[in-house]
Amino acid sequence: MKRYSGLAIFREALRRHKGWRPAWRDAQPGKNYDVVIVGAGGHGLATAYYLATRQGVKNIAVLEKGWLGGGNTGRNTQVCRSNYFYPESAAFYEHSLRLYENLGHELNFNIMLSQRGNLELSHSLEELEMNRRWATAMSLNGIDSAMLDRDDIRKIVPILDLDCRFPVMGGFIQKRAGIARHDAVAWAFARAASNAGVDIIQNCEVLDFELDESRIRTARTSRGPVQADRFALCVAGHSGQLAARAGLRLPVESIALQAMVTEPLKPILHTVLGSLVIHAYISQSDRGEIVIGGGADPFTSYAQRGILPTLQDNAAAVAELVPCFSRLRVMRQWAGICDISPDSSPIAGKTPLENLFISTGWGTGGFKAIPAGGDTLAYTIATGETHELLKPFSLGRFARGQLIDEGAAAGVAH
Ligand SMILES: Cc1cc2nc3c(=O)[nH]c(=O)nc-3n(C[C@H](O)[C@H](O)[C@H](O)COP(=O)(O)OP(=O)(O)OC[C@H]3O[C@@H](n4cnc5c(N)ncnc54)[C@H](O)[C@@H]3O)c2cc1C
Repeated sequence: MKRYSGLAIFREALRRHKGWRPAWRDAQPGKNYDVVIVGAGGHGLATAYYLATRQGVKNIAVLEKGWLGGGNTGRNTQVCRSNYFYPESAAFYEHSLRLYENLGHELNFNIMLSQRGNLELSHSLEELEMNRRWATAMSLNGIDSAMLDRDDIRKIVPILDLDCRFPVMGGFIQKRAGIARHDAVAWAFARAASNAGVDIIQNCEVLDFELDESRIRTARTSRGPVQADRFALCVAGHSGQLAARAGLRLPVESIALQAMVTEPLKPILHTVLGSLVIHAYISQSDRGEIVIGGGADPFTSYAQRGILPTLQDNAAAVAELVPCFSRLRVMRQWAGICDISPDSSPIAGKTPLENLFISTGWGTGGFKAIPAGGDTLAYTIATGETHELLKPFSLGRFARGQLIDEGAAAGVAH
């Protein structure tokens, strides 16, 4: 595989860019694999990459019903942070952020990680106290966080209306948080996995499974049967549906989450800004668009589309926080189908079927988890031992009642 570099771009420019090769092979389905991963989103591709490169598994396929990165991985608002409250989540998401910090180098792909900070606003003294507790918990877990007063916030976001309907009392920031280009993360893992020998097979939908007692033998796909020793489901909002084909009932609901972007502006917003009370979070993409996220739809659905009431709610919230943005035009609005678990935490690892593994429940916050999700699931699949960081997130926690209630950890309340 040709390395990407400034020199390579220069060399290619001299020969009219005729020497670039496709970033990944267009593989055809084989008959038999060591591991078949269903879903070429970030989690499926990262799992394949780490299996092939860190765990030494060589015969791997990723089956994708559409195009790779076309699910939530290519639809999210790109926020990467590890500002979680509970120690289990903090350890997991911090591992992910650390992997992100070196991912561009490791995969030789510019994932455009921009650690511009994630600022959460407090609109009352009570919320300020809650946020102080949250920031202190982060510090105890070894994660950077800093409380901010109104003057600090004014300096960071001068365009924010601190005296909006629910006046800003303060807030806290994780400075190492930020955004990464979501498509690039999928493409980078796909390119590196393909280079390590993984077959990435697009337009190949898994329709059903053939089982032998407690094992899956074959996946029936739209392009014929595919056998494997082990299978992993990384299909986000379609997890419940597909797991049911293998006889499993997962505690996940499928709910659409919407986002939208405005027309592009010159650089004006230099951090990710979130308000649980006004109910929106915003950042500025490298193209200059203001990226706006709000709450998930309040009903289950598989409809991947934006709807007018959500656009109105999000626009009203943003205009409340940053009045000058009320003059911007919205260019695009879309949705992805999220896999929401009862405690808003992921469900990843082994299942009651001995050769089936899952990666689901990432809900509205799994983009930031992609490197750690892939790394830990690959370890679990390859060794048969649940990775230490994944143990708290096993399916069994619902039977044991050991929930990790991270409902408050999203950018806004869902
Ligand atoms: C609007 C929005 C904003 C978000 N914002 C953020 C954010 O700022 N930060 C953050 O951390 N997270 C965010 N998220 C959540 C994040 O995007 C997801 O949790 C994450 O991308 C999930 O990755 P995945 O690989 O599990 O799923 P996906 O990327 O959805 O990949 C699953 C793949 O499986 C494929 N598939 C499904 N069924 C089948 C089948 N039967 N056969 C074959 N293939 C199949 C799909 O086509 C899809 O490509 C957001 C999500 C949305 C929708």
